[in-house]
Amino acid sequence: MKNLFFILFSSIFILNLNAQKLTKLEKDIIKHVESNNDEAILLLEKVVNINSGTLNLAGVKKVGDIFSDEFESIGFKPNWISMPNEIGRAGHLFCELTSGNVNGKKLLLIGHLDTVFEKESPFQEFIKVNDSIVHAPGGNDMKGGNIIILYALKALQEEGLLKNTQIIVAFTGDEESAGKPLSISRKDLIDAAKRSDIALGFETSTGLNYATVARRGSSGWKLEVTGKRAHSSGVFNERVGAGAIFEISRILDAFYNEVRGEKYLTFNPGVILGGSQVSLEKSNGTAFGKSNIVAETAIVKGGLRFISEDQKENARDKMRIIVANNLPHTSAKISFTDSYPAMSPTKGNTVLLNALNQVSLDLNQGKVEAYDPGKRGAADTSFVAEYVDCLDGLGALGNGAHTLEETVNLNTFEALTKRTAILIYRLINEN
Ligand SMILES: [Zn+2]
Repeated sequence: MKNLFFILFSSIFILNLNAQKLTKLEKDIIKHVESNNDEAILLLEKVVNINSGTLNLAGVKKVGDIFSDEFESIGFKPNWISMPNEIGRAGHLFCELTSGNVNGKKLLLIGHLDTVFEKESPFQEFIKVNDSIVHAPGGNDMKGGNIIILYALKALQEEGLLKNTQIIVAFTGDEESAGKPLSISRKDLIDAAKRSDIALGFETSTGLNYATVARRGSSGWKLEVTGKRAHSSGVFNERVGAGAIFEISRILDAFYNEVRGEKYLTFNPGVILGGSQVSLEKSNGTAFGKSNIVAETAIVKGGLRFISEDQKENARDKMRIIVANNLPHTSAKISFTDSYPAMSPTKGNTVLLNALNQVSLDLNQGKVEAYDPGKRGAADTSFVAEYVDCLDGLGALGNGAHTLEETVNLNTFEALTKRTAILIYRLINEN
């Protein structure tokens, strides 16, 4: 009986928590989002219709200029950060608002101006399919997310709620193909994170009921093997040994059987060449060899995805040990390159997810859960995950990002902007 009472009591308590609902002020914020939604969609159409493929530097800058004016009009100070010529990228738009004594959380809101659709792409136009769906190159990934950030902040500004706060909006110009070296192209983003408490990423949403608290990092590896060139009749004997192709096969087989298996760890050999002579430039290569010559050389290039730095380093160590255990008369070396760091599932990220979940429940949009980290590709938020609590996937809903079928779902646009506005409002007022 006592237990039953406790269960009843605690479920009432939980119900009450869920029914916290919106304050009067929050309802006013929502009204601003609603009255601005048509304007937001028009602006989405305008920026989608300007090509901003990563390598169309003028186009990326043009989209940046439009957002620059928009953020300036709501009190942000825009700053265009150019990249040095040798990086070959347009640059980034950062807009900052710092006013009064900052009491709440300092926010970094992340978007990007570029798309995967370069000038040569046949996909260039915002075209409505019906009342809810629009074909839009880069509308889902992620001009829609940029607009959600803008109109969430606009609602707060119109209600006079952007006082005593620090918000940095960072729109990179090269997310789809980051300029190298990353130490230059991602420096400003990392510096902004170091001055912030929380980063919110507005990459495409994976549904109203999911957000990203973790995503895997990605990196590369290259395996180069040398054997002793000889007539094939001598293979396996004491002077000739195994040859490069048997050795590279041994290594890959051991990777598959001994390194594979950890959750979220994957590694994929993407290209392989072997023979008497090989050459491999980026993704293209040639090989020459004969069935009666023991292979002298072999090469594999691959990728490796991981959920934490520890997992990455641990996998690399295991691979190095396997690589060192050579067959007779062969040698092998493996080299690794870093690309995106992992966004690991931290406690702080989960606290943010819970805050979003509460906002969503209060808006009657349903509960929000963590999206499977294994399914989400890498993005800019990963670069700052080491410094701040992060949540990503808060952008527009749609389908087919990076394909000629990319769409934005206009029906959900207003709902996503509302939850962003309320989330930002609560965070900047949270000590
Ligand atoms: Zn993107």
